[in-house]
Amino acid sequence: MSDGAAAIKTAGELEDLRGLIDAVPVVIGFYDRDHVCRFANAHHRFFHGAEPAALIGQHLSEILGPDQYADRRPYLEQAERGEPLAFDATVLHQDGSLRDCAIHLVPRADADGEVEGCYVLVFDLDRRTQEVGTLKDLVDLAHDTIFVRDMDGAITFWNAGAERTYGWSRDEAVGLNAQGLVHCRFEVDQDAIYEEILRTGHWEGEATRTRRDGTERAVALRWTLRRDAAGAPVEILETSRDITARKEAEEQLRASEYRYRNMFAAMTVSFWELDFSGAGKMIYGLRKQGVTDLRRHFVEHPQVVRELMKASIVLDVNDKSIRQFGADGRDVLLGPVDKFWPVASENVFAESVIAAISGKAYFESVTRLRRLDGSEIDVLFTASFPRESVEKGILLIGLVDLTDTKRAQDELARVQSDLAHAARVSTLGELTASIAHEVNQPLAAIVTSGEASLRWLNRAEPDLDEAKAAINRMIADGQRASGIIARIRAMSTKAAPDQALHDPNALVSDASLLVQREVETHDVKLILDLAAGLPPVKADLVQVQQVVMNLLVNAIQAMAACEACQEVGRRLTVRTRPDEDGGVLVAVEDAGPGVEPGKADQLFNAFFTTKATGMGMGLSICKSIIEAHGGHIWASNKPTGRGAVFAFTLPPAAEDAL
Ligand code: ADP
Repeated sequence: MSDGAAAIKTAGELEDLRGLIDAVPVVIGFYDRDHVCRFANAHHRFFHGAEPAALIGQHLSEILGPDQYADRRPYLEQAERGEPLAFDATVLHQDGSLRDCAIHLVPRADADGEVEGCYVLVFDLDRRTQEVGTLKDLVDLAHDTIFVRDMDGAITFWNAGAERTYGWSRDEAVGLNAQGLVHCRFEVDQDAIYEEILRTGHWEGEATRTRRDGTERAVALRWTLRRDAAGAPVEILETSRDITARKEAEEQLRASEYRYRNMFAAMTVSFWELDFSGAGKMIYGLRKQGVTDLRRHFVEHPQVVRELMKASIVLDVNDKSIRQFGADGRDVLLGPVDKFWPVASENVFAESVIAAISGKAYFESVTRLRRLDGSEIDVLFTASFPRESVEKGILLIGLVDLTDTKRAQDELARVQSDLAHAARVSTLGELTASIAHEVNQPLAAIVTSGEASLRWLNRAEPDLDEAKAAINRMIADGQRASGIIARIRAMSTKAAPDQALHDPNALVSDASLLVQREVETHDVKLILDLAAGLPPVKADLVQVQQVVMNLLVNAIQAMAACEACQEVGRRLTVRTRPDEDGGVLVAVEDAGPGVEPGKADQLFNAFFTTKATGMGMGLSICKSIIEAHGGHIWASNKPTGRGAVFAFTLPPAAEDAL
């Protein structure tokens, strides 16, 4: 136990020392044997964001949160056995970061040697370097210049600091006129200064003085007037400090601030200054409640991300931001940032928060933000977290408008997808045209025979034989029509002009690129789950890509038509896997309504469609293509969760093809 601690007997005595203890940049508290706070110094305010008075009577578990309290308890119990101890630990700072700290526990005993509780001292090691700076300032203060002059201006006292500052020794200075020696030039009217000191007994201000070597120094002055017993002014005591370096630094700062302001205003990039302190406090609260995995917490509680946005305040924006966000002035953009963040971009905000509090210097991501008129723009979002700014709770955000770049990319994607679409439609179109042509004839004949049979039946005396003959013609024409379809199907698939070896993964990813536009416009999350080391397949690239594209487009359409899918998210997964026969399996899995039980096979029949404008040819053509390649295609529902799976296999390429 330290002597200093032993000397302090009561909380009241601690209160007497409060001025000193509050000045120390260390968290100092006293906890009794029940771990209830009995004393807390002012630094709690800076570190924990808590008013010291409010902490008195709180249990340590309330102050630290249950998890950190459980960590600290064994140390406290050890100290309560009478041994002071020190250890390093991370402590949650009010800005939400975890700081490396040295913690000292010093037990205090009563007169009988009974331990009453512990002093807890927390040194923020991350800040130590800054503290050294502060202490140095204090030492410099002790080297203040001090001199005294009588009411005629003659110097009567001159300390070592004055010797150093002005270059005149005490012997030289004492007796001389102060103004004659140091040529004081004030920034304000000198008569007003004398009027003030005679009236109030006190004056503070800045001036420029000349040293013995002729150089000029900026000084901060503090004057106190001493009067005699009768109240007549006797002398002026002056303490002063050389602030030349500070003035120069201020000037440089002003110049750099000016440059920064100019850049801030003139850049063609949007810049925002953000007050993050409210959000920092919320994270502090979460950590205190024992939340360690913030990323998971944000996923499970998306409303927390929204709350964090509401607690992050735009303090200032540059001119570019005003134009970019469609504002008619700066003020309308200030305030909580949440109005600029659509729900779909929340995860980018959450990631930037995680980056900020995990000590990263920088965060960057492409995202979409909302303008004041509700339209959305694509931006490159950057946030920088310089340590000093984060401690003050200020962040700088940069936003580069990507709308034009994105528009060009979208245009490219649209052209690609139009091409893909055109290819799809032309295959179907050719088929439909020939089907229409070939099938029209038997259909017309069926209608004619139907009408004829009705006429035979409607006669006063129905002629059943003629009616039967007409119906037989209808059946024959119907069979002719289905024969035509079978022939066309065979024609479209048996021709296999380009059978070459292809990497199945490349085939699948190229096909999915071609439907990128549909994926984006329908807000679908496309996941490619491609197995490594698959054998090549022998296939007509264009035809098999048509199959994959058709399955993808069907899945996108199925999910777009279903409202419930919006909540669970439109996930579309394409998997490639080795097949049992040594070939390859491709499965397209969606989160749509799935296929009706018992109807899975019917979907592959020509003209089966549930869509108002559907042709019902897509899956039928897919089946023909896959079977022509020696594979199988089938539909099923996902074993768990909602959604359909359309899968096909392609057999291994024959030995001679390899
Ligand atoms: P179309 O798209 O013109 O209707 P298809 O042969 O491609 O023709 O599809 C036939 C039918 O199969 C569709 O109308 C739809 O009812 C069903 N279907 C296809 N894909 C899916 C899917 N991913 N989920 C649910 N139903 C589907």
